[in-house]
Amino acid sequence: MKNKGFKSGVLTCLLGVILVFGLSVQSVAAQKVAKEKKFVLEWLSQPQIVEKFGRISDSIWSYAELGLQEYKSAKLLADTLEEAGFTVERGLAGMPTCFVGTYGSGKPVIGILGEYDALPMLSQKGRVPKQDPVIEGAPGHGCGHNTMGTAGISAAIAVKEAMDKYGFKGTIKFFGSPAEETVISRPHMIRAGLFDDVDAVIDNHSSSGFGTSYGRGGNALFSTVFSFKGRTSHGASPWGGRSALDAVEIMNVATNFLREHLLFSYRMHYVILEGGEAPNVVPDKASVWYYVRNSDERLEDMYERVINCAKAGALATGTELSIRVITAIHQRYANKAAAELFQKNIELVGMPEWTEEENAFAKALQKELGRPERGMSTRVGRLREPGGVFVGGGSSDVGDVTLIAPTATIRFPGQVPGTIGHHWSSVATNYGTTAWKGLNAGAKSMAASAIDLLTRPKELQKLRDEFEAQAKQHPYKPFLPEDVAPPLDLNEELMKKWRALMEKFYIEDK
Ligand SMILES: [Zn+2]
Repeated sequence: MKNKGFKSGVLTCLLGVILVFGLSVQSVAAQKVAKEKKFVLEWLSQPQIVEKFGRISDSIWSYAELGLQEYKSAKLLADTLEEAGFTVERGLAGMPTCFVGTYGSGKPVIGILGEYDALPMLSQKGRVPKQDPVIEGAPGHGCGHNTMGTAGISAAIAVKEAMDKYGFKGTIKFFGSPAEETVISRPHMIRAGLFDDVDAVIDNHSSSGFGTSYGRGGNALFSTVFSFKGRTSHGASPWGGRSALDAVEIMNVATNFLREHLLFSYRMHYVILEGGEAPNVVPDKASVWYYVRNSDERLEDMYERVINCAKAGALATGTELSIRVITAIHQRYANKAAAELFQKNIELVGMPEWTEEENAFAKALQKELGRPERGMSTRVGRLREPGGVFVGGGSSDVGDVTLIAPTATIRFPGQVPGTIGHHWSSVATNYGTTAWKGLNAGAKSMAASAIDLLTRPKELQKLRDEFEAQAKQHPYKPFLPEDVAPPLDLNEELMKKWRALMEKFYIEDK
């Protein structure tokens, strides 16, 4: 993207000031905004900045790379940081698509997390309010991770610009985190010591609303492939055979009976990866991939019972069982002081203003999904407190990060309310100007929060004190077994197949 020159820069800066502060006059009046914070908000409000990062997000959306195969997405984000003056280390923690960008020096060290992996089977055209894949069956960004890595780097670069202008001390780090959809990278990044010097972490996730929360949430998880090895034989004279597929089926029957005896906080789901190729050859190889989820306290017990179901399948069929842990993670423990600080900045930034065309798209998508046709969200959310009874839910490897540094997540807007997660409707909405504006609002709230943490030691201390107390109660002990390496092969074949077909639809800015 070309710089449009100083004059227009000043003009857009002024427009930006009006845009940022015009939207949230009340909250600005209530808060005295420090000059460093004002600066990052103005810097991010420049239309050419909104567009530059919007186009990066759209490019990553078009690459739609699966976990640990995000070569183009990681490169685009890392190159952008490097061009902005960050020192970038690539290929970290045993993952070619993991990187860290660093700017500044000394304490405090503030981290921003960013993700960029896509989901399988969700290909969909951007801003088209009915199911219409770019390529039938190809991956798609059904969780908005294309906007998240981009929001993270734009926030980090804004903070760097403020450091240059005002000369305050400290370090800003962006953690390029692959494979969040399969919750793989963070335990390895922690193990490699990447977070060792970090004082606080700002996480983000795309959403239709704008808000944050604190407390314990989400489920811990074991992601494991159970493989069975049997013996082939003719399907019409199968006496000599030992069916590995039978073992998978018996295991699945056993785990489905197990459900009755698990407390309601659990989640358990599986896909059969391999189950033979023809009915007249008894399958000698079969495998099933399980997600076993529960609270930190209940996870290991549940996992052991699932392993017993697998053993039962092997025993009943005379096959051999092998177990491969893909990943294992903790629940999230979001820091309250961090969330309170983020919330103030979310209110300061306020919701983006949506155009008529953007609201019309939102309503058309909502109509297609049978949801109330209310258009884009217009108000920021309230700070969410932890719920009373833990009923389980999704998982994120950010959980492990919350146990080694004070962390909370900013949910930023851009998605159409009512879209379904991990569904074509989500892919349709994570592209184009609604996504651009949403990720820009997210970047502003992150940059403003990073400024607070870098320039106001008392604020940072609140996060640290709460974290130290929590760390005494829940010291970090990874669920990930020590001998498990990042599963670099996991999506390799699948991505190779799709990449060849997807390449001609890549949106490239440079
Ligand atoms: Zn996600």
